[in-house]
Amino acid sequence: MGSTPINTHELVIVPESAIPDLVTRKASFDAVEAVFAAMAAGSACNFPVVREMLGHEDALYGFKGGFDRAGGVLGLKAGGYWPHNLDRRGLINHQSTVFLFDPDSGRVKAMVGGNLLTALRTAAASSVSIKHLAHKDARVLGMIGAGHQATFQMRAAVEAGAFEKVIGWNMHPEMLPNLARVAKEVGLPFEAVDLPDMAGADVIITITSSFAPTLLAEHVSPGTHLACMGTDTKGKQEVEAALLARATVFTDEVAQSISIGEAQHAIGSGLLAKGDVHQLGAVINGTHPGRQSADEITLFDGTGVGLQDLAVAAAVVETATKRGMAVIVPL
Ligand code: NAD
Repeated sequence: MGSTPINTHELVIVPESAIPDLVTRKASFDAVEAVFAAMAAGSACNFPVVREMLGHEDALYGFKGGFDRAGGVLGLKAGGYWPHNLDRRGLINHQSTVFLFDPDSGRVKAMVGGNLLTALRTAAASSVSIKHLAHKDARVLGMIGAGHQATFQMRAAVEAGAFEKVIGWNMHPEMLPNLARVAKEVGLPFEAVDLPDMAGADVIITITSSFAPTLLAEHVSPGTHLACMGTDTKGKQEVEAALLARATVFTDEVAQSISIGEAQHAIGSGLLAKGDVHQLGAVINGTHPGRQSADEITLFDGTGVGLQDLAVAAAVVETATKRGMAVIVPL
């Protein structure tokens, strides 16, 4: 990743409709892995998250921003969740746009559609955690959640390991065909299971909008790697706090993990201390050993950071500019 060589007198616009042709899962994975490493090395930082109820359309709106000094990437993602979009407008409920700025002058540099990028960068984060923390013999992937993000999560996860089977559970079983469809697409057998059967998974991804734990510590076998990706707001919870106490806990950003991530509950109940939560980037950089035994449970608390969005957006701007596919507007 590097600063995009564009004219500071021009604004580059990459609309949502152009994104599918400009980004790959591999590019997203590489961008997210690099920015996690930069965060742990101290050369990139995220700014505090703003999230507000608009009091209009029941929408939740906010900003996630940051600065990657080494990559020369400064900006923010603005957007949120409009729960009536699909029913009232035929639009997806999550809506976001990324804005990039020239870090030397502060001039706006690019405006990039953020909807597909959000799903790709979130899936990239859990697959980076699988690459660096899962047991190398992991063969069974467990999915908890079967919504929009879950399909992206499965596609990315199977590229990070040598999986032979997918098992899945969802609170709303009528959504399970989403998982079966993607498993078929990636060429793996799929089985819908009960929660206790998650003990048969080597890697478990949780990606739901749950506010109460569904996966309990007793549902998880020694040696499992978990990527808990759904909890990104105060009050949400997908797994029992006791599971975090049994696991070695990693995250994208410690400040977010203990306040809006899955670790908020284990911290709140005294089962975990802030110092027990480690940056995944430190494992990537080799300053944390990561998994240390075959029986260790590792858990990645993926809260979603602004720098992930900026990293994938910067990669898209670079590709769009190179291919002549960006809309250029003079400033
Ligand atoms: P979606 O609406 O498409 O799917 C929601 C999923 O949660 C479904 O599987 C549904 O059955 C399940 N669910 C709903 N209510 C539940 C409950 N009370 N208990 C258990 N499960 C329940 O949503 P999505 O776009 O797939 O997003 C899933 C979650 O991921 C959301 O919470 C979203 O905020 C979060 N998310 C996190 C990041 C990140 O970076 N960590 C990024 C994007 C989305």
